[in-house]
Amino acid sequence: VRGPDDPDYFTGYAHLSIHRTMLQDKTRTLAYKDAILNAKAQFKDKIVLDLGCGTGILSHFCLRAGAKTVYAVDASDIADQARLIAEENGVADRLIVLKGRIEELTLPSKVDIIVSEWMGYCLLYESMLDSVLFARDTWLNKDTGFLFPSHATIYMAPISDDMYYEDTVDCWQDMYGVKMKSLMPLAQQCFFYEADVNDLMSTNLMGSTCELVTLDLMKTQAADLRELKCNYSMDVTRNANLTGFCLWFDVLFATTTPSDPPRHRGRRSGPIVLSTSPFSTPTHWQQTTLHLPSQIPLFEGDPVSGTIYLRSNPIHVNRKMTFELHLNTFEVILPEPSKDEDET
Ligand code: SAH
Repeated sequence: VRGPDDPDYFTGYAHLSIHRTMLQDKTRTLAYKDAILNAKAQFKDKIVLDLGCGTGILSHFCLRAGAKTVYAVDASDIADQARLIAEENGVADRLIVLKGRIEELTLPSKVDIIVSEWMGYCLLYESMLDSVLFARDTWLNKDTGFLFPSHATIYMAPISDDMYYEDTVDCWQDMYGVKMKSLMPLAQQCFFYEADVNDLMSTNLMGSTCELVTLDLMKTQAADLRELKCNYSMDVTRNANLTGFCLWFDVLFATTTPSDPPRHRGRRSGPIVLSTSPFSTPTHWQQTTLHLPSQIPLFEGDPVSGTIYLRSNPIHVNRKMTFELHLNTFEVILPEPSKDEDET
């Protein structure tokens, strides 16, 4: 388990800029707020663990939903601030801040609910999901307990961005009269073999969306996260050059096994969904793009399929994620020659 050799990760969370980014991401924070306040019946008089509490914002929502006590855990120095904020709001007797890594702390008791905002880019980059699963196995009351969020899904769609090669590789031909062509191999490496986090323009999408994997967080094992093997298949919806794939995730807040269709913020029934899709309000997670090293011209109705491996390292190695994308070769079916002489 990652320990004192991981100072940078927790030092990063001692600075307010990251907390400001998260709190000002209204889609994110209001999804948690709505989900928690909509579940008053489930939170009433319960003991909650807010894992990775940061400023403690989610703990305050839990108290407002009727929780008896919240253990707010964070290993970063931000925990000291969370304690001050609890005092400032007069709830320090029910919002117990515990500073330290969940893997090393002893909580005063088991808990009924674990609330955590653990998601990273493309769900699993720099993710602390391993720690959430550890907390579930160690501190959650098994029979009645639940996790908030409860489920997470990763999606993928094909994209067309004809300008990308020009903008990232071709541009080194000449910079202000200085030739920089020698940078082109490095540019290939930097811009094609590293995933790109960006707000994708939905106009770049060129096909249907495929659900890659759904994690039921009550059941997921840390070992499952090391390699997710996903078969994908989508349909092209317009004639365009396939230049890459875009990935994003959503998380679902279900207090029971979801039977209703998921609910996005603002809709009327069913569990709340926090979505980072290019069709939803942008969030600080944006979307993750994988660029293909060459373009593939495709036509409306063409199928695109293959296998993608999402690999995430355990937190004691590093928090990085790698992608291995396999694309099935295309069978080109030429139209039958027209028999009608008048048709072109
Ligand atoms: N809940 C807050 C902050 C989320 S950021 C909010 O929603 O605004 C995630 C936090 O988890 C960071 O502050 C980080 O320091 C903390 N964290 C990550 N892994 C942890 C672990 N294993 N033990 C304790 N805290 C952890």
